[in-house]
This record gives sequence, structure tokens and C-alpha cells, in this order.
Amino acid sequence: MQYRSPSRNVRSVYDVLEAFPSERVCVDHLARMRWPNGEVCPNCGVVGRAYKVKLRFKCSYCKTFFSARKDTIFEESKVPLRKWFAAIFLFTSNRKGIPSTQLAREISVKQETAWFMLSRLRQVADNMAVEILKGIIEVDECFIGGKERNKHAKKKLHNNWMQGKTIVVGAVERNGAVITDRVPYRDRNSLQAFIMRRVYRGSTVYTDEHGAYKRLPQHKHKNTNHSIGQYVNGDVHTQTIESFWAIVKRAHKGIYHQWSQKHCDLYLREFELRWNLRRLPDGDRLDVFLQHVNGTRLTYEDLKHGQRKQLRKRKARQLRKGVTRRGRKKGTQRRRK
Ligand SMILES: [Zn+2]
Repeated sequence: MQYRSPSRNVRSVYDVLEAFPSERVCVDHLARMRWPNGEVCPNCGVVGRAYKVKLRFKCSYCKTFFSARKDTIFEESKVPLRKWFAAIFLFTSNRKGIPSTQLAREISVKQETAWFMLSRLRQVADNMAVEILKGIIEVDECFIGGKERNKHAKKKLHNNWMQGKTIVVGAVERNGAVITDRVPYRDRNSLQAFIMRRVYRGSTVYTDEHGAYKRLPQHKHKNTNHSIGQYVNGDVHTQTIESFWAIVKRAHKGIYHQWSQKHCDLYLREFELRWNLRRLPDGDRLDVFLQHVNGTRLTYEDLKHGQRKQLRKRKARQLRKGVTRRGRKKGTQRRRK
């Protein structure tokens, strides 16, 4: 019999809580979404040989117990899956995002918990990001950040309105997905490297009159001229990407107020995700999201102290110096300077 998702007619967060009344229903649904061809045992890798024991699964091959949360963003989280599902619904259906304070109130958890949950959800958004675009593509760049004149006198560094802001370049496919990247400068090298990396060769690229886009070697290029008031020239315009920036900027100003350079990329992934899923019904968004929660366990440590890579580096460095978890290794001495 075909599986009927409980989230098929979900329209609001109340519907989500009604459609998933218990942890059991949530576990079943998560298992269905994660493993469409049968449960995969994380210990031995055997597919479809597990059976349910209360809220867990037991592999009939290697006899180990495992949870549907294993190797997902839900791993080691004490928050019930019901609340997680409600959070995913709010995260994917609020068009300008949801602040952690608001989420905390909606699903009754602490603000710190909500903030951490949102960070984990952004990690999934990163997983679901589109890599490359094809067809008719609009490319434009945007500046994110507060005004220089609003900064404290000690922090004021620049006179130019562009400086001190984060430059983000984006590409959107007509009736398709969006991709964004941070770039260091608004010059030919940075912008054209972005296009080369993220747009298939031979695709048509529409931009504004900015000189850095001129003479694209491997793409067909057409542009409008905003400086003379020309915003649309036949089919050539950049209104789609502009409307994406409008959402990002309003959310930055009105919902998040500020985001740090460190987490900027993850915030951008969040907006990409919402844009890319915008045509799906609300309930389907939840299901698609659950299909991508695999292998994205983000620990608080990672989030607070940068990426895993940095953590690994630090551990390796400590190991070289002879510092282990329990202190200094036997027989190793601190190097004298
Ligand atoms: Zn097994």
C-alpha cells in the first residue's frame, strides 16, 4: 500500500501538531522519509531487516538497537520530534525567516534551544543548496550590512557607503533555483569567477550595466542599463534576482537585525532554501526537508568555535604538543623557548 504522508494537507503549525500527535507517529514518518527503501542499520549497513521495538529499531542481522534520529540533525537532541517538525514548518514557511525568540515561544522551548535548532536547520539548508544553474540566468550583486553613520565612532572605519559591508553575488534561473556566494570584491575577477563556477557554459546571462560583467568568455551575455532608467529590455531584465534581494534585505533588517560574518553563509543558505522550495505546498516542504536531514549533525562546539575542520586542526595541534584530553601525555615535555 502506498504511504500517505500525515503532512499532506498541512496548512499551519496547528495542523502540524495535529497531524503528528505523538513521538511514535513522528518516528515512523521520519524513518519513511529517511529510508524510503527500508531502514538502514547504522552499525552493519543492512537494509530493510530492522523491526520496531517501542520508539527504536532493532537490526535482526547484527542485533543492535538504533534510533531514527541517528546521524541526523535530531541526534542527541532532547527536544521531541513533534516540536522539531513544527520548527521545520515555521522555518520553511515563514517567508522572511523566524527569530529564535519567536520560535521559542511558538514551540515552548528556551531561546537558547531555539537558536541552536535554527542553526541545525540552516545546516540542512546548506545540504540542500543547488550547485550549478543552466538556461537563462540573472546575475546581480548586493551589499548586506548596516550604515556606516550608525556605527559607534570607534568602529567607524570607512567613508564610502560600500565599504565595511558584505558583498554577496547571486544568480537565479528563470522559474528555477537561486544560488548566492560571498565575494571579497565587486570586481571582474570575483564576479566572473562566480559565474564560471556556478553557471553552465553556454547559458545566457542577464545582468545590469556593471562593467565587471562585460566580455564573459563562455556565456552569452546581455545587459540592461539602470543608469539611464532602463530596467527591462524585451526579455532582458534582472527583476527576479532583485526581488530575491528584497526578501533578504527586509529579513536582515526587520527579522534578524544583524548577522555576523561567521554565520552569513548559513543565513544565505536559509534564504536560498526558501526560494527553491517556494512552489511546493507547505506539507511537502516538510517532507522534502526531512529527506535531507541525514549526515548533518552539528554540535554546539562546532557552531560556537567555527567549522569542524578548525576543530580537527586544533586537536591535531594539541596532539602534536602532547596535550591529551586528560592532560599532558606521559613522556612528553613542554618545549622550552
Ligand atoms: Zn545491523
